[in-house]
Amino acid sequence: MLTPRNPVTSLAAVSLICALALIAVATALEAKPKMEKRAFGKIQDGRSADLYVLSNDQGIQAAITNYGATLVSLKVPDRNGKAADIVLGFDDVSKYESGKAYFGATVGRYGNRIAHAKFSLDGVTYTLEKNDGDNHLHGSFNKRMWAAKDASTSAGQALELTYVSKDGEDGFPGDLSVKVVYSLPANENELKIDYTATTDKDTVLNLTHHSYFNLAGQGNGDVLQDQLTLFASKFTPVDATLIPTGELRPVQGTPFDFLKATAVGARINQDDEQLKFGKGYDHNWVLDLKDSKSIAEAAVVFEPTTGRVMQVWTTEPAIQFYTGNFLDGTVQGKDGKTYPFRGALCLETQHYPDSPNHPAFPSTELKPGQTFHSITTFKFSVQ
Ligand code: BGC
Repeated sequence: MLTPRNPVTSLAAVSLICALALIAVATALEAKPKMEKRAFGKIQDGRSADLYVLSNDQGIQAAITNYGATLVSLKVPDRNGKAADIVLGFDDVSKYESGKAYFGATVGRYGNRIAHAKFSLDGVTYTLEKNDGDNHLHGSFNKRMWAAKDASTSAGQALELTYVSKDGEDGFPGDLSVKVVYSLPANENELKIDYTATTDKDTVLNLTHHSYFNLAGQGNGDVLQDQLTLFASKFTPVDATLIPTGELRPVQGTPFDFLKATAVGARINQDDEQLKFGKGYDHNWVLDLKDSKSIAEAAVVFEPTTGRVMQVWTTEPAIQFYTGNFLDGTVQGKDGKTYPFRGALCLETQHYPDSPNHPAFPSTELKPGQTFHSITTFKFSVQ
C-alpha cells in the first residue's frame, strides 16, 4: 500500500539533495587548479617579471614568464607516472636577461641565421644586428617584456602573450604585433603554442620556440641515447658559418637520415663535413608535409630510461634540430643543475634559415592586411 509522503520530509530531502549537489559542484570547481602567478625577479632596469604556472588534468605543468614569452619549466610524467621537468632553464629572470642560449625562448623576429645580417625587400636593403659572427641570429624577442593575460577557457588553461616590435627593431621594417598563446588542453597530453602576427609595412618574420628538451629530466646527462624520428627526406646543408647553401639535399645514405627512429648519438661523431660545421646536428630539415597549411607530425623523440615520448606537430614547413653543441657544463641552471655538452636537444619548427636571401625557399614575407598564423604542439606519452 502506498503511503502518502509527508510534505515536510520531502522538502527536507529535496533541500538535502540540492545542498549535496552544490557541494559536489563546488568541490569539482575547487579541484580544478587555477593558473598561478608568481614573482620571477627583476631585470636590470628595475622591471619585475612574472611566472605563470599552467596545469591540466593529465599531470602536465608548464611555467611561462612574460620576459621573452619564455617557457621556464615543463613537467611531464614518465612511464611510472612520476613527473620531471624536461626543459633547461633558470630559476630567476636575471639569468634569462644575461643568458645567450635562448633557453625556452620565443624566438623572433627571425628564427635562425640571416647571412651577413642583410637582406633586401621591395628594393630596399635592410641591415640587421650582427650577433653571430658576420650573421644575424634569432633576434631579440626573448629579451623583451611581453604583456600577459590569462586566456583560459573550459577547454583548458592558456596564457596569451603580446608584444609590439617597433619599426626598425633589430633592423627589420614595420611595426609588428605578435601574439603567442601557450595552452594546456584539459584532456590532452600536450602543450600547444599558437602564433599570430600582423604588420604595418612589408616585412619578414620566422617565429619559433627554442626549448632545450631533455626527456630524462633537465640536467640529467646527455641526449645521445634518445631515439629520434624526423619526417623529413631532405635537409638544407650549410656553409662553415651555418648559412644554408641553397641546396635541398636528400638525407638518404647520410647521418641526417632520421626517417626511421635512430639514436641521436649513433652517427653524430662521424667524419662528415656538415656535422663538423654544426659541431654535431644544427641543421634545418625540410618536412615531408602533405598539405603545408594543415598541422602534421614533424618529429618524435623517445627517451628509453624514463619511457617519455614527445611528438612535435606543426604547421611550419621545416624544423631545426640542434643537439646543444654549445653547452659545455659551465651554465648553472635550475635547481643547481649544470648542463653538459649535448645535454639537451632543440626541435625548432620554422621556415628555412636565411629565406629572405633565397627566393627559392618558402617565403617568410608578411604584408599589411595579412595575418601570419602558425601552430606547434608538443604531445607527450610513454612507452
Ligand atoms: C642555432 C644554434 C644556436 C642555438 C642557440 C639554434 O637555433 O641553430 O646554432 O647555437 O640556436 O642560439
